[in-house]
Formats: sequence, structure tokens, C-alpha cells
Amino acid sequence: MRGYTELHRHLDVSMRLSTLLELAQERGLVPTSTSLAEFEKEFILREPMEDLGRVLAKFTLYQQVQDRPDVLERVAYEVACDAFAEGIHKIEFRYSPGFITDLSKLPWIDSLDGFDAGLKRAQAENPGLKTGLICIGSRDFGMASIEKTIEFYLKHDDRFIGFDLAGDEALYPNSLYWHAMKPVVASGANITIHAGEASGPDSVWSALEDLGAKRIGHGIRSVEDPELMDYLREKQILLEMCPTSNRITSAWPDYSTHPFRTCFEFGIPVSLNTDDPSIFGNRLSDEIGIAKNSMRMSDVQIRKSFDDANAHSFINEN
Ligand SMILES: [Zn+2]
Repeated sequence: MRGYTELHRHLDVSMRLSTLLELAQERGLVPTSTSLAEFEKEFILREPMEDLGRVLAKFTLYQQVQDRPDVLERVAYEVACDAFAEGIHKIEFRYSPGFITDLSKLPWIDSLDGFDAGLKRAQAENPGLKTGLICIGSRDFGMASIEKTIEFYLKHDDRFIGFDLAGDEALYPNSLYWHAMKPVVASGANITIHAGEASGPDSVWSALEDLGAKRIGHGIRSVEDPELMDYLREKQILLEMCPTSNRITSAWPDYSTHPFRTCFEFGIPVSLNTDDPSIFGNRLSDEIGIAKNSMRMSDVQIRKSFDDANAHSFINEN
């Protein structure tokens, strides 16, 4: 059986919930009396979010517990093993060194060493599993953090398979980063940019034209611009789509009209991804189920999207 390929999963918010609870309890952040079932009920986001404060508090917990290289190693190892057990043979993880070390003040290199070691151990124990790490610059952390991330990426680009910008694209448009991203583009890096999720087609155009993106994270709002749709098809730019994430963040609340199907039928390569599975409680099989049952796509169509994901993976080139 050919395994699945997943291209868009944030490793810093992907850990097993049982591990998150254990680490949070060890650090006194969650009462030891809290059961996994109670924690899951309270923590996992199942419905579109209304209270952004509650969501941000969840992100804080991930920053608080991932405070040592051995913790990051364990997290990466478990997540990669779980993915393989689910039938995913090739998986690209991404993480933001600025985000993950923000509270722990862990040296950035420790975050890379920890995650990298965990992925390597998972690969050694699961022949057939291929993983890779994409480095993320977090827009919300300011330009100095983006510049530091770019410097970090360029110094360690043999340990990453690509570079990404994530965070609030409406408040911090992609065009702001044209100058900062120049050395990344010049290095020939595989670039994917979160765009066209909270903002419209202009954000996708800017990711492609200003920032050298070879793929787009989300890109759902590309459907608003026929010229952009033509361009994406002509250039075969893959859009990494995350239906559950889009519903929960209210970026695209309705599965039946989700652009995954529209773009697929138009001839643009699209892939299914989980985005932040530890927060949304989703697995890749849930995204496949949504494509099948809510978007009414056939098994053959869904298989084609995974073939496209495999062909556009940055892991292939390393
Ligand atoms: Zn994402």
C-alpha cells in the first residue's frame, strides 16, 4: 500500500494530548486530579472559536511545557510514530523557533536539536517513514524575530527542508517581508507561505511574487480571483489545505463549499492536512473523511491529491 503524504502540520502544537497533560501536570500547570477525558473535553477545540483569549491560552501551554530538548525529542518522536501508524509515510513538520522558545528561553539551537533527534529516532524505528522540518518565522513576533529566524534558518539550512511565514497575515501583510526574505529566496530555499487564509488573493500574489513561495499554506481565498486561479493552475502551485482548521478558525466554516474541491476540479494541486492536530483533535483520516463525505469527492480524486502532495513534497529534493 502506498502511504499518505502530509505537508502542513505544526510540530509545536501537534503533541499527544496525554503527553501534554502529563507535562502540564508535572509542571503544576494543570491539577493532578484532572483526568485525560476531562482535559480533552476542556482543551480540544471542536467548534468555531469565539473567544480568542481562550485559544491563545492554549498556545501558551505548549510554550510552557516544551521547555527542554529531551521534551521536544519525545514530542517529535511520538508525533512521527503516531503519523506512521496512521498510514502516513511522508510527513513535513514545521515549527517556529521564536514561538516555541518564547517562554522557556531555551536556546533556539536546542529546539532544533530536540525536534530533529526525535524525528530521526522515529525514522530509525519505522523503516519507510520519511520526515522533514520546515522553519517558521512568526509574523506576530515582530520584524526583529523574523530576521533572527531567517539568520537561524540560513545557518542551519542543511537541517531544514524549507522556510515558511505564519501568523496574522491581515495585520502583517506578506509584502512587508520582501526585503527580509531576499537572502532566503536567493539561497534557493523551498519556500511555502501561509497566505489567503485570513486575507484575500493579494496575500497569495504577494507570497508568490515578493517572497518566492513554491507552495501556499491554505490559499483558500484564491478562489476569489480568477486570474490567480489560472496562474496557480498554469504554474502548478500546490495549496496545502486544512479543512478542519479552517472551520474552527472560521476562515471557511462550511465543508460542502470548501475550496479544496473547487481548486482540485479546476486543476490546481491541493493537499489535505491537519495543521494543529493537538488543538483541533483531528487526524489525517478526519480530513479524508471530510473530503469524502462533506465535499463528496471520490476515492480516486482523494488519492490523486495525495499523489500531488507526494510530488510537491520538499522532502523529495533532500
Ligand atoms: Zn498552518
